[in-house]
Amino acid sequence: MATSAELHVRRQAAVPRGIGHATQIYAKRAKNAEIWSEDGKRYIDFGAGIAVVNTGHQHPRIVEAIEEQLKSFSHVCFQVTPHESYVSLAERLNALAPVAGPAKTMLASTGAEAVENAVKVARAFTGRAGVVSFAGAFHGRTHMGMALTGKAVPYKKGFGPFPSDIYNVAFPNAYHGTSVADSLKALKSLFKHQADPSSIAAIIIEPVQGEGGFNIVPTEFFAALRKLCDETGILLIADEIQTGFARTGKLFALEHSGIKADVVTLAKGLAGGLPLSAIVGRADVMDASNPGGLGGTYAGNPIACAAAHAVLDIIADEDLTGRANAIGKIIMERSRKLAERSNLNCIGDVRGLGAMCAVELVKDTKSGEPAPELTGELLKTANEKGLILLSCGTYGNVIRFLPPLTASDDLIREGMDVFEASLTEAVSKLK
Ligand code: PMP
Repeated sequence: MATSAELHVRRQAAVPRGIGHATQIYAKRAKNAEIWSEDGKRYIDFGAGIAVVNTGHQHPRIVEAIEEQLKSFSHVCFQVTPHESYVSLAERLNALAPVAGPAKTMLASTGAEAVENAVKVARAFTGRAGVVSFAGAFHGRTHMGMALTGKAVPYKKGFGPFPSDIYNVAFPNAYHGTSVADSLKALKSLFKHQADPSSIAAIIIEPVQGEGGFNIVPTEFFAALRKLCDETGILLIADEIQTGFARTGKLFALEHSGIKADVVTLAKGLAGGLPLSAIVGRADVMDASNPGGLGGTYAGNPIACAAAHAVLDIIADEDLTGRANAIGKIIMERSRKLAERSNLNCIGDVRGLGAMCAVELVKDTKSGEPAPELTGELLKTANEKGLILLSCGTYGNVIRFLPPLTASDDLIREGMDVFEASLTEAVSKLK
């Protein structure tokens, strides 16, 4: 049996270096919120495959749903011989998503594909080309996804040219010095100097920026965007790919603001680990494209649809929105306590919505200067001590906590113990 170290050497020879690696832990087996490596070592999983297995690894009901579907058929292509589970999943998502008015849903396979299709339907409906996104945003690695993404390295550098008519404006991030008023001013300036609102099809925004650092959109900003969109005919697209599916303590993060979007993109937690994404939007918007203009060979794969139905059932039956809030409370309290520990002096901010929590690491709390080296050291130390942690943020200095929502309080506490020990060790190593 190959060890993780041996596999990593083989990987480097066989797989391009452009595909990043947060850890060098090669997974052999996983259960709920724990992963066992090829080396037989146990890890607490605070990454959930980047916010995907909110329902835990190998949830028995998801495994059963997949096995049942496999016995009937695994692929028929919805555009050739449709299947019930696609239609009923669309019906469920239409009823649940925070979309203004009657909704329709199309399924795809990845998050980036959901974003691509959201822009397609918005352009087809409005007859306009422009799309506005925000600094720090992440919307995927396809060409439109990259164009909309607001972080140059590593996501955009060397990959241009990008689609035209994409505008990136300042995100309202008070911690980094941009207020809601500043952001609204940037939008006004865009409309004055670069593109009239009548040329803009959509504004796309993550309710909590994921890769950008778990930056929460203030409700007043959402309200202002909604008003602006209503006044100008621009569509509001909420990218809920990372925030969606119970992570923030509501099924969709947009529900915290009470604002409705015209289109919502979903992926990640939607199918508990199977590749499935969804675009849920106003029926009139979703129906604007010609027949044949939307779809994909694998889009709405029946096994993934079966898993998604099980995910929705589990979220309701196990009250995973309630669990997200309870887990988030433990993480936030522990993180705030750590921030107060004066000998650490490296936590600039603790923030979160439900179980989408983060701490921002700084060189010292007075200067607030980002500390990416400390972040890297912490991640490495945590791995050594048996915890899988992820970073994010424009400056690579934010630790994001994304455990499965099915994790027990005890396991979350154990993970936070490891986090504290790892941070203490990383700080003393870099002193
Ligand atoms: N949008 C957001 C908000 C995301 O977090 C991601 C993935 N991190 C994507 C889009 C792209 O999803 P995928 O990697 O499945 O293409």
